[in-house]
This record gives sequence, structure tokens and C-alpha cells, in this order.
Amino acid sequence: MSRTAYVNGAYVPHRRAGVHIEDRGYQFADGVYEVWSVRHGALMDNEGHFRRLWHSLKELQIVAPMPEVSLAHILREIVRKNRVRNGLVYLQVTRGVAPRDHAFPADIAPALVITAKSMSTQKSEETAKKGVAVFSTPDERWARCDIKSVSLLPNILAKQVAKRQGGYEAWMVDAQGMVTEGSSSNAWIVTKDGVLATRSLADNILSGVTRGRVLALAAQRQLTVEERPFSIEEAQAAKEAFLTAATNFVMPIVRIDDVPVGEGMPGPLAEALRKDYLQSAVT
Ligand code: PMP
Repeated sequence: MSRTAYVNGAYVPHRRAGVHIEDRGYQFADGVYEVWSVRHGALMDNEGHFRRLWHSLKELQIVAPMPEVSLAHILREIVRKNRVRNGLVYLQVTRGVAPRDHAFPADIAPALVITAKSMSTQKSEETAKKGVAVFSTPDERWARCDIKSVSLLPNILAKQVAKRQGGYEAWMVDAQGMVTEGSSSNAWIVTKDGVLATRSLADNILSGVTRGRVLALAAQRQLTVEERPFSIEEAQAAKEAFLTAATNFVMPIVRIDDVPVGEGMPGPLAEALRKDYLQSAVT
């Protein structure tokens, strides 16, 4: 089946979809994005993703392309047109098209692109059953990681470090030797005492929508949660480790820099939270 994309007001064949060469997203990475997971044809955590989208746009002084109800309608349409049952929706808003100049014009209209694709739930389940490996690398990002900007150079270089070593994700480490987050996910451990630890949002990380959901699920399970830094060494010695992201849900981590975590198998808490998440998250 051929795919359909939404580009600036029109539904177009995916293979022919394009933007102008002077789109500021193309020239300056001057834009933001969001990724929704689609399960059983429905968008997961809609509210959280919209909240973060408005935050990112506001912080970069990019005008919202349209109101939330209209955007939500297009998101549903793109899911329908691409017949996605399980997969993801990608939305990107850039500041728009203008003659190249670092400073941006006041009256510029934002550019909007939305795509959708199917993804195998079976593959994700198989990966989760085995667990994944992560590798550490220095966090080289800027001071505004709360903004979900398309400017992802440090993230893609980090992911490549992991991929080159056969890993699934990179865990980025700050100047103090503490893990901030993954290149495209939030980082978690379960300590020897059963305490769930993940970095605080005050520490220049992305406010993961899945992270927020998992914190709520942990509260329901009456787990003790500490939003605090942890080192690679502490994570390697932890009972469990996992990552969270819209497209990965809760993904158990079984090796960190080639050192097995716990028994070297997905931990029970990560598996339980993954189940909780999959049961709870459709909105
Ligand atoms: N951190 C970073 C740097 C990311 O790119 C992502 C994925 N968007 C996340 C965390 C996880 O966020 P979410 O749960 O909203 O997908």
C-alpha cells in the first residue's frame, strides 16, 4: 500500500512529499517535532504529546500552525489513510520558509509535516522479551533539552556510538559522570532496595510523555521513586534497568557497556510496568 503524508495543507503521496529548500527546518534545524505511538488504531498519550508540542513551540517562539482540535483531526486522518493499526505518527513544525538569515522574520508562517507508519508489535514484544543493550557516551547537548527540537546532532551521534557496538540505545553521561537520558528515551534503574530511579526534569532532560505515564503507574503500584542522578556504575550494579519512549513503551535493559544488569535478563518490575503501560495508555 502506498503511504500518504500531510504537507502544509495537503495530503500527498509519501514518496513525492517535499518541502522548500529555504525551509528553516532544512537550513537551521529551526523546528520541533512529536512522535505518537499508535495502538489498535488509536493515538497514545495524546494529551501529553500536545502539551509538550505547545511548550516546544512557545519556547522557540514558533507560531502554532493550527488549533489542537484541527491538528488532532489531521493526526487521526493520517492514521486512517495509512491504515495504521500499530505504529507511529510523526509531526514536525518548522518556523517556515524565508530567505536564509539567522534572525527570523516576524510574519513567517510555520510549516507542518505529518507522516504515519506501521510497525510490528510482534517485533517490539520479541525485543522486550530478550531485553536490550545500552552503551554510554558523553552528553554533548545544549542547555535546553526540554525543547523537542529537530536539532538532534548530539543524539544521532550518540545513537551511532551504541549502534556501532551492537547496542540498542546510548545512555548519555553528563560532566559529573551521571546519566542524563537515552539518545531518544528516558533512563531508569531499579536499585537493590527496589527503589525506582530516573533523572529529574530539573536536570535538563526531555520531559518524556512515557516517563510521566510510568511515574503515575509506579505510584499506583506504591513503588518508591527517586528522581535523582545515577552513574553508569550504579546502573550496572542495579537490580534492573529499563528505558521509556513512546515507540518503545517500557523496554528492559539487560547490559550496560557490556556488563550484565542483574541476572542479565529483563527484570520483573520492568516487565510489569510495560504491561501496565500497554493496558493503560490509549487515550
Ligand atoms: N528523551 C529523548 C532525548 C527523546 O528523544 C525521547 C523520545 N522522544 C524521550 C526522552 C522519550 O520521550 P517520550 O516518552 O515522550 O517518547
